Amino acid sequence: MTALKAMYGGTFDPVHYGHLKPVEILANLIGLSRVIIMPNNVPPHRPQPEATSAQRKAMLELAIADKPLFELDERELQRDTPSYTSETLKAWRSEQGPTQPLAFIIGQDSLLNFPSWHDYESILENAHLLVCRRPGYPMTMKEEAHQQWLERHLTHNADDLHCAPAGKIYLAETPWFNISATLIRERLQKGGSCDEMLPASVLAYIHAQGLYRS
Ligand code: ATP
Repeated sequence: MTALKAMYGGTFDPVHYGHLKPVEILANLIGLSRVIIMPNNVPPHRPQPEATSAQRKAMLELAIADKPLFELDERELQRDTPSYTSETLKAWRSEQGPTQPLAFIIGQDSLLNFPSWHDYESILENAHLLVCRRPGYPMTMKEEAHQQWLERHLTHNADDLHCAPAGKIYLAETPWFNISATLIRERLQKGGSCDEMLPASVLAYIHAQGLYRS
């Protein structure tokens, strides 16, 4: 059996425990030895992150410094055109070959939006989807057709993720973490405390750089 490899995309503005902890638990649950974190470049027509790409990268490096589970992939960050997960996963698939099991990790909120992602059906041709729980979001899709799509791909057996190269959706029983980057930015703007929400090294960097103050 070839070891399953997983990527985890997002804006990470800033990275927080709601990103890191569910994925560490997921990795233990299903036997993942490496998770590739891939911060995205935000296209010009979308609201821009408050932190620059370099700052988001620096915060991620601090957050994963003592966590060998994670590594950073800068391919989307270095692009100055929109990054589509479908394109990134196609490229990753051609690098890894047709039989390597690959997965993309998302939170429950992203699963609900997933059918609006560019070329979303092709994502499952190249990878499995691993979904972490997130409080405040239903586990069923809004449209019946999307619910059927979900059920067609759903598996409750983690072995399926290691045996097939792509095509399964796994709803992981990870704990809920009521943390978001938006909440952190809002708290910091008001001078509030976020000590429990993100690594101390990342918080120190935020303060040193004067981030999220206005
Ligand atoms: P923002 O509040 O700025 O929208 P965010 O906290 O949702 O940001 P993103 O960088 O947009 O973070 O998310 C990257 C990925 O992490 C997404 O798939 C998202 O669903 C997931 N994620 C973020 N926070 C949590 C959480 N608390 N629990 C589970 N998944 C999460």
